[in-house]
Amino acid sequence: MESLRKVLELERAKGFADTAVLGGLDGFLRRLLKGDRSTAGARLRTALRVLPARGYAGLATGERRRWVEGLLGALADGSGPARASPAEHRAPAASRRAQARPPAVGGVTLGSSIEVLKGVSRATAARLARLGVRTIGDLLYHFPHRYSDFAHIRPISQIVVGEEQTVLATVWTAAETTMGRRLKGSEAVVGDETGTLRVIWWGQRYVARQLRPGMRLALSGRVTVFRGQRQMENPEYEPLTSDDLIHTARLVPVYPLTEGLSPRVVRRLAKETLDAFADRVPDTMPPSTQERLGLWPVPRALRQMHYPDSLNAAEMARRSLALRELLTIQLGVLKRRQAWQASGRAHPLGLSPAALEGFVASLPFSLTGAQRRSMAEIAADIAREVPMSRLLQGDVGSGKTVVATAALLAAAASGCQGAIMAPTEILAEQHYRTISALFSDGGEPLWSGVFQPSYLGRPLRVTLLTGSLAAKDKAAAQEAISRGEVDIAIGTHALIQEEVSFPRLGLVVVDEQHRFGVMQRAALRAKGSCPHVLVMTATPIPRTLALTVYGDLDMSLIDEMPPGRKRVKTIHVLPHERDETYGFVREQVQQGRQAYIICPLVEESEAIAAKAAVQEYEYLAREVFPDLRLGLVHGRVPAVEREVQMRAFRDGRLDILVATAVVEVGIDVANATVMLVEGADRFGLSQLHQFRGRVGRGEHQSYCILLSENPSEEAQERLRLMESIYDGFRLAEEDLRLRGPGEYFGTRQTGLPDLKVARLSDVDLLEQARAEAARLLEGDPALARPEHRPLAREVSHLWGRLTAEVS
Ligand code: ADP
Ligand code: MG
Repeated sequence: MESLRKVLELERAKGFADTAVLGGLDGFLRRLLKGDRSTAGARLRTALRVLPARGYAGLATGERRRWVEGLLGALADGSGPARASPAEHRAPAASRRAQARPPAVGGVTLGSSIEVLKGVSRATAARLARLGVRTIGDLLYHFPHRYSDFAHIRPISQIVVGEEQTVLATVWTAAETTMGRRLKGSEAVVGDETGTLRVIWWGQRYVARQLRPGMRLALSGRVTVFRGQRQMENPEYEPLTSDDLIHTARLVPVYPLTEGLSPRVVRRLAKETLDAFADRVPDTMPPSTQERLGLWPVPRALRQMHYPDSLNAAEMARRSLALRELLTIQLGVLKRRQAWQASGRAHPLGLSPAALEGFVASLPFSLTGAQRRSMAEIAADIAREVPMSRLLQGDVGSGKTVVATAALLAAAASGCQGAIMAPTEILAEQHYRTISALFSDGGEPLWSGVFQPSYLGRPLRVTLLTGSLAAKDKAAAQEAISRGEVDIAIGTHALIQEEVSFPRLGLVVVDEQHRFGVMQRAALRAKGSCPHVLVMTATPIPRTLALTVYGDLDMSLIDEMPPGRKRVKTIHVLPHERDETYGFVREQVQQGRQAYIICPLVEESEAIAAKAAVQEYEYLAREVFPDLRLGLVHGRVPAVEREVQMRAFRDGRLDILVATAVVEVGIDVANATVMLVEGADRFGLSQLHQFRGRVGRGEHQSYCILLSENPSEEAQERLRLMESIYDGFRLAEEDLRLRGPGEYFGTRQTGLPDLKVARLSDVDLLEQARAEAARLLEGDPALARPEHRPLAREVSHLWGRLTAEVS
């Protein structure tokens, strides 16, 4: 070992040019290792394991330096990489401390590229990268999605046709074989004391080359019958001399694969990586938390996720890792909430019972139970000095605006200002009209924007502020707001970004949250005073997702529709019914109604989507509806022009609005009765439901028509759900079930961390994690105690990354 150290030092002195020994370092290392069973030899063997197949010679200079330094370090301090600590035992205190930082093995850490692993060629690395596996750490967290149960080991005489099982047998003969003209493969006969069995590997000629008569094998797979004889087809196999069976005779992991990546390779890599690195994954959870939640230590959980002793063990492992994951997320979420609540004191806002009753009585309808409940929840929040952070969820048309208006009224009654922000100008205008109507009590305003509701006992001034106002009007609005004369300001988010100051901002309502990222929310909160915040969204969010994405917000739910709504008739039509469908649209227009036509979803790029929309529009305008007035909006149309088109449609100057998904957050046009969605199979259910919510807002019967060119079975099933389910929440759950969260809800847009282990159906685990997070923060709000610090770092790392992505 002394000579090894000298050689490595010489190599370093020569600038890692692989010139320290004649013939290169690889040959030297191999000679050195032959027959060496010392601990230093073991250490070197471990270090070698992380070298790529092409050896030291195949490394770039920087990689060579890291490897040499790492090995020299290991040789010097004796605390090297070969420390064999059984995974499931608590490591002694000293090495636990050492685990806080992932230690290096020959310069290799959990963050190192998988290319440093033996047997990972550039091509294999590229294939793994396609699965999101780039580093050693990624590989440890690349979990099987299921297991093949090969744990039943049976003598050949007792194997059961049709079942998965394992036999332990000796190879008698093995040879390449040809079946028919093209199909080549391998065939073997194996036997044990109880009988013999024919084994076939279709298309795998190399298997025969690996088998020798007399070899002891484990074979796992399904048993079939061919010409009355039992046989195994394409079983997994491995020599019984292996220390650990990884392909057979146990629960064998089935990994997500990609083209060109063989299951055997991934299983072997997973096993080797677990052996060498699982013990090095730092454990950030304080021991008391691990105990309370019954968590397995990380290395044990990782091993049992990949190679479980039983299905029960696999579930326990998953539970441990999922809880850790969810707890980290919940800590971040609750800390954010804590920070917001500690950021200052808000004005307590409230409406006298008489004024509230007066407002409610002035409405042209009676409130639903859900609206009343939400109003009460909000009223209780804003009456306190702790700033409110609440999400108001309700399906399209469920009547969120009136609930928000009651809160804005409370702000005004308490001598504060309220603001409501919408994602587009046209929506801001719409709110302005709606809210003005609610305050005019059936009568006329005193003068523009000034109301005198009988129940308030003083005038109420409401102002619209959007970018497209004439400069003079804009300046006047800004000034009035800044002087504190405006009670309620309605606008786009220019409202808080531009040179507007609110001397007494008490409440901010944000409509259609998902268009505003986490960062905008933070910016909003930073605006001068410390207002209460109410976020409104019409996107139904299943509970797990809500607690994760909006976990820092309290939740109010309007889960009841105003009575007497006409259902939007929804039909899925087939391509050959297209002409009829166009005919129906024309009929509706002839009756004075309007229609939306949504272009198929194009995901490749905004530019391609825009082009497709233009083509669709031109086709419709020229060939199908040459006599009607058509408008077009898509993502590439400048915002100003888009608003012009939307306004024209709203005001009845267009019959048909052709659009891409940008109208999803759209406008109320009571006269629009047809929503025709082209390529409907490419949209998610929630999105289709949002489209559908654009119609059925007036007195006329409305229709949602879903056209799809060539829908798959699965797509047809989804579209059938649209015909029968009208509840946005149920559709959201179905959508999530069918498509998964990534599709359902763009991760980047929402700041949803990408869940590796936990599932959105893990409501129980989520509640446990949330309770534990609350408990930890209660005892140590900053997570500043020594035993909490690694966790605090992990949390800020997770959220730091997310925030960066969202901004
Ligand atoms: P959304 O939740 O989609 O924002 P809105 O607040 O715009 O819904 O309300 C949709 C329509 O329903 C509006 O025209 C509103 O006046 C009306 N509305 C709200 N609440 C009720 C109710 N309780 N009964 C009848 N109509 C209502
Ligand atoms: Mg609304």
